[in-house]
Order: sequence, then C-alpha cells, then structure tokens
Amino acid sequence: MTAGSSMTTGGSSRASLPAPCVLLKPGEAFLKGRNRERFEQRLQDNLRYALRGVGGSTWIKTTQSVTVLGGEVPVEELVERARRVIGFSAVEPAVRVPSTVEDIAATVLGALDGLRAERPGLTFAVRARRRDKDFPLTSTQLERHVGGVVHETLGLPVDLRNPGVRVSVEVGRHETYLSWERHKGQGGLPVGTSGRALVLLSGGYDSPVAAYRAMRRGLRCDFVHFTGAPYTNAASVYKAYALARELNRYQPGGRLHVIALGTAQKQLAIAGAGKFQVVAQRRLMIRTAGALARQTGAEALVTGDSLGQVASQTLTNMATIDEAASLPVLRPLLGWEKQEIIDEAHTIGTAGISVLPDEDCCKLLAPERVTTRAYVPDVQRVEKRLDMDEVIEGLLRGAQCLRPGADDAATGLAAAADGACGVQAVPSR
Ligand code: ATP
Ligand code: MG
Repeated sequence: MTAGSSMTTGGSSRASLPAPCVLLKPGEAFLKGRNRERFEQRLQDNLRYALRGVGGSTWIKTTQSVTVLGGEVPVEELVERARRVIGFSAVEPAVRVPSTVEDIAATVLGALDGLRAERPGLTFAVRARRRDKDFPLTSTQLERHVGGVVHETLGLPVDLRNPGVRVSVEVGRHETYLSWERHKGQGGLPVGTSGRALVLLSGGYDSPVAAYRAMRRGLRCDFVHFTGAPYTNAASVYKAYALARELNRYQPGGRLHVIALGTAQKQLAIAGAGKFQVVAQRRLMIRTAGALARQTGAEALVTGDSLGQVASQTLTNMATIDEAASLPVLRPLLGWEKQEIIDEAHTIGTAGISVLPDEDCCKLLAPERVTTRAYVPDVQRVEKRLDMDEVIEGLLRGAQCLRPGADDAATGLAAAADGACGVQAVPSR
C-alpha cells in the first residue's frame, strides 16, 4: 500500500502503545497569525507528497501546532522524508505512550537507561508540555516527577542549562509523545504559500541554490533551462534534469522546460551583438522565461546571479537585463560569496551534479571579453535588427516540458512533447 492511498488524519490505534512515531515542529508558519490554518494545511499537503512511494501505510495527525507522523514504515525512513519538507524547523523521532504518569516515567527511564550505556557522564533535563489540562500533574510537577524517578533509579545528574539529553514530553488527552533526539528541519515557509516562480536553471552551482532559497520563502518553483542546441550536445539537459529532480525533493513536482537557444544566439551574433552578445542572450532568456511564466501561472523569475561574481553580473548589466523583463526578477543570492553558494549546494545535494562537465550555452558565441557596461540602447540597436516577438514565439513553440522526479522517471522523460505541460506558443510582448 502506498503512503498516499492509506493516509488518514488520525487513525492511530491506542491498543498497540507504546509505538514509534515522528514529531514535526513547524517553524515560521506557526507565527503567521490569521494565515496559520492555510500554512498548516499546505505543510501537511507537502508532507503527504514527500511520503509518496515510501513503501508502507502512514498517517498524519496535527494537534495544536505539532504534527505527528507514524505508520508501518521504519521511523528512520519517516525522519529522512520529513527532514526534506520545507516549513518544519525540527524533526524528532518519538514514542507514543498512554497519557499516564506511570507510562511516561517508565518509558523515559528505559530510554535513558539505554542512552547512558553509550554516553558515559550523561546529564539530562525533562521538559513537559501539558495540552490536556485534566492531566493530574502540572507541567512542572510532571518534569520534577519524571526527573526524580530517573535520577533516583539511574543516578544520572540533572542539568537544566546544558543537558546532554533533553527529554521532551508532550501530554495529550489520550496519548503522550516522548522524544529525546532532535534533527534540524529545513525551516522556512511551506512551499506554495508565497505563490509560484519560474527559475532560470543552468548547470552551474548558483541557480539550484537560488531555487532552493526561493522555495524556502514559500515559492513553488518550475524551471526553465536554455541549451545551445543545435550547436551543443545534450549534457546540459541531463544536468538540468538531475538538478530539478533533486530540487523537487523539497517541493511537490516542479516542471522543467527545455528551450534550444542556439539558433537565436547565432541570429544575435549575426546581427552584430559583439561585446554585448552575453547580455543580449540574457535579455532573450529573461523575455522568453517571462512569456513562459505568464502561461504557467508564475508571478516572478528567479536567477542565480550574485552581484559582481562575473562580468555579466555587474549592476549595469543586471539593470539592462531587467529592462527586458515583464515580471519581477528575484535574485536570492545577490549578496552571497561563491564559497557560501558552493557550501550550500553541498548541503542541499546539488553540488555533485553541478560539478559535472557540460556545454554551457552562455559560452557559445561569447566574445573574448564580456563588457561590464552594456546599456539598454547598446543592446536594443542589435535587437531591432531581429523580430524579437517572432524569435520568442519560435523558442516557445520548440519548448519541451519534463517532469523530473515524477513517480515514474520514464513518464517524466516521455512527457517531452510540445504542450505536455499545457504551454502554448504566444508572443511575449
Ligand atoms: P550558475 O552557476 O547558476 O550557472 P553562473 O555563475 O554561471 O550561474 P551566469 O552564467 O552569468 O552565472 O548565469 C547567471 C544566471 O542566469 C544563472 O544563475 C541562471 O539563473 C541564469 N542562466 C544562465 N545560463 C542559463 C541557462 N543556460 N539556462 C537557464 N538559465 C541560465
Ligand atoms: Mg552558468
């Protein structure tokens, strides 16, 4: 049975307690006042998506800002999946026990007894939160009671300031969740709560990290990759596909549009772009991406630009590129250093793909020295020699749409037909 087909919002049986589960603590979503319900719903939907194909039935239950996840799947697997979901700040393997003082104390005692064998000199603290006000002890009384039992039985010292292990006790009406291990979650805002964006995805380190950062601010991302075809090979497409698949592990199924720019690049060169070639190409990418975004419902474009990183990314050149944009161009990495970007690429899992060789379309026809100062009239002089609307229409007509990371990878690739993602060719502006 798959996770998706068997998921319920409560169906956990108390007969079989104690039982393992996972506690998920929301990050900023929790703070969002009146939007809270919408954020929590989106977070749950995204979690459900992340659990697809997990190989066993699962259930999700949300009680007062804590989400509990369980099922017939090893807890490690559930933790691994949940840690990918943007919007949870902490992911804690936990145990469900009946809400009685005896059950709680006995389980904590057993857990710490096991831990002290592995960690000599272990100190501990108990933190309790009582959601059920009918519970016979207050939170503080429960903390003291459980701490006292552990201290007396095992002789472990309490350290409230800097404990070696912090036992968290979440007391509910029928069941209580106990955890003593905490993994950092992705944090951020649930993907989809800020709208949709289209990411210009190259094969380098920067744009995948920019995409991840955009997702962390709640943007659901589709991707567009430009190749130098027919003058370059398919290596960059494979890379873009692999990158988008990796990025889709943090969000529900973003699409990848692949557009062959080579012929249009050549047209710009023939029109005399010269030292403005790279900026002219980038304007063409931004225009084409803008037209695509409007058809796919995206409200912004995202790039991996970082100010001053390379000649094409000076303020003057960025301003000239943005002049061609019909949607806001977001640059999450504007103030990042290259090493910071590469470090994050390692953390999110895209570095190993970005490092692979490819034939980058930007290098095709690039002049020996890219100008750092391309002004709008410089590039417009070149563009006027072409019918830009027609060029863009042609590019969109030839676009392929892929679904990286869709359940069956073969289906994702098979969708590589015009219009497979509902995009039609229309002029940009
Ligand atoms: P990256 O590491 O993301 O490739 P870069 O340092 O190589 O960036 P540029 O080549 O100037 O810098 O590209 C800047 C941004 O323009 C990229 O981050 C990306 O968003 C976009 N871009 C560049 N080339 C492509 C492409 N072939 N397809 C889609 N977007 C591209
Ligand atoms: Mg690049």
